[in-house]
Amino acid sequence: MVIKDALSKLGYGNDMYELLKEPMRVLTVRFPVRMDDGQVKVFTGYRAQHNDSVGPTKGGIRFHPDVTEDEVKALSVWMSVKCGIANLPYGGGKGGVICDPREMSFREQERLARGYVRAISQIVGPSKDIPAPDVMTNSQVMAWMMDEYSRIKEFDSPGFITGKPIVLGGSQGRDTSTARGVAICIREAARVRGLVLKDARVIVQGFGNAGSYLAKFMHDEGAKVIGISDAYGALYDERGLDIPSLLERRDSFGTVTKLFKNTISNKELLEQPCDILVPAAIENQITQENADKIQAQIVVEAANGPTTNEATRILTERGILLVPDVLGNSGGVIVSYFEWVQNNQGYYWTEEDVMTRLEEVMMRSFETVYATATARKIDMRLAAYMVGVRRMAEAVELRGWV
Ligand code: GLU
Repeated sequence: MVIKDALSKLGYGNDMYELLKEPMRVLTVRFPVRMDDGQVKVFTGYRAQHNDSVGPTKGGIRFHPDVTEDEVKALSVWMSVKCGIANLPYGGGKGGVICDPREMSFREQERLARGYVRAISQIVGPSKDIPAPDVMTNSQVMAWMMDEYSRIKEFDSPGFITGKPIVLGGSQGRDTSTARGVAICIREAARVRGLVLKDARVIVQGFGNAGSYLAKFMHDEGAKVIGISDAYGALYDERGLDIPSLLERRDSFGTVTKLFKNTISNKELLEQPCDILVPAAIENQITQENADKIQAQIVVEAANGPTTNEATRILTERGILLVPDVLGNSGGVIVSYFEWVQNNQGYYWTEEDVMTRLEEVMMRSFETVYATATARKIDMRLAAYMVGVRRMAEAVELRGWV
């Protein structure tokens, strides 16, 4: 485990690892949802809270058929590391519900979102654990969840959740923030590798919130986006894809490839030659099986956990610069933090303020991690973990927990 290596490189003993290797709390809930046909369906969900030594826990909620308890637990640990790198006053949290929102009506999704919040309401809250969007949840889902929580607690609680629509206390720039952060990492990675972004060939796997905005930003920068994909397949054209038209035609879950005949598989897409590869879908996409076949100079992880540890080793040995998820996609939680700060203050910033501050935090994070990796001659993931767990370990020690 990377966290084990990071803690031992920082000089911590096994007791620290024992505490931080798993979340301090995981709640499993089963709750009923009335479907449109009148039947009641019981759904299973989880909320994991890794460690609250530096502040409340923070992290998204995903709606996906493959959600498991182990996945949510691992994602909560990664959130701690992510918040640590960006120096946000949070530990990590994560939630998930086993479901397929693509097969549910709008009102069924609303009842699911509200049911889940009722089930977890005792352990979450603006100063306890603050959820946010993740895979297949969006600002509308956050709005329902905030409304349900506010009703339960009998006061308006915008700071309970981030990623809300602007009129309900959301922040300017939150919806594009994950992709903005990825774009900043791409720019910095390209700079250290001496790669010019204009006309660079980019492949983006996944066309959800992170992937679709990123494809747009890369297209706007003059890079050539030659491949994109969704859960059903991939589009590839070495002359460059018409990203603005694909953005218009995708549905709210990022599905677009169904409209085309000439598609390739996600697996094939990852192996196409390119300069920059951005996995922006789900976990375990680059593994021992295909790491040898990746033909990119730079890989920036916009998804959480798309590259296994074994694959990270192979890519690094092959000289590919890998910017890990806990740094690459941290723009989302950074602007979530700004949103929570604005909710707590009741004072709202301009989009320019948000972007300037995001840029500052991302640049500092990238530089710190890159400098650690270079100085210690280690890969960027291990360096990111060292930077990310250091503050938490210190807080744990100062509180006298270890
Ligand atoms: N789900 C996002 C992530 O994995 C955002 C979490 C947040 O904003 O709290 O980083």
